[in-house]
Amino acid sequence: MFDNVYSFRFFLHRNMIVVTNDGVIVTDPINPAAARNMLAEIKKITDQPVKLVIYSHNHWDHIAGAKVFKDQGAKIIQHALAAKATRPSPIVVPADETFTGDTHVVTLGGTTLELISIGPSHGSGMIVMRLPKERILHTIDVVTPQRVAFRNMPDFFPQDWIKALAKIDQLDFDRVIPGHGPPVAPKSAVAEQRQYLIDLTVAVSEGTKKAGNPFAFDTITASVKDDLRPKYGKWNLFDEWMGLNVDRIILEQRIGW
Ligand SMILES: [Zn+2]
Repeated sequence: MFDNVYSFRFFLHRNMIVVTNDGVIVTDPINPAAARNMLAEIKKITDQPVKLVIYSHNHWDHIAGAKVFKDQGAKIIQHALAAKATRPSPIVVPADETFTGDTHVVTLGGTTLELISIGPSHGSGMIVMRLPKERILHTIDVVTPQRVAFRNMPDFFPQDWIKALAKIDQLDFDRVIPGHGPPVAPKSAVAEQRQYLIDLTVAVSEGTKKAGNPFAFDTITASVKDDLRPKYGKWNLFDEWMGLNVDRIILEQRIGW
């Protein structure tokens, strides 16, 4: 893509690395082993030190491991809501600086990176990160191209997530670097993710009506699979995770959570 923007993958997790003339910006460090590997890879592409680490939200699986960067003098930035919600962990380094409100702009070596709060969706204090010049958006957990939602959607609030995706879709960018999945995807991945959640919600409502029992998890799942297979059958983990996706929507519809 651009010669200053990279994505580092460690097993299932991915982040974004932006090299500027005055230091490197690293998003989620993932975990200590990932961060050590990441630092070694960064040293292969630039002599610049890592100066900023940005945490996307409050979940350990993305934000652990910043110690190697902090030890070099990097500053860690996180949305205040995420900082407040982060449970203590021996491998998560608390942020040095937090921000409130909708947008926080960081600049380093002539590069601008916007940190944009997307509101309730997944976890707490979730942000997306936009590089306006490069027209790239980095999203974590809320957009995974061509894959059904993660298992039983842990700490996701599906109807809020749908609204947040509409907000993300209004931002100006061409490509997405997602926190899970391929290194880059077209912007259309955002609308596709949103439509999947809308279609899933409708299919669960229909399946519940047909089943005549709002907690007939297996019957409703079978109905949803039939409804969604023509459009989403080729998406990753459709058969493996659909029952879990359906469980989450049933709970949202029945208990308001
Ligand atoms: Zn998460």
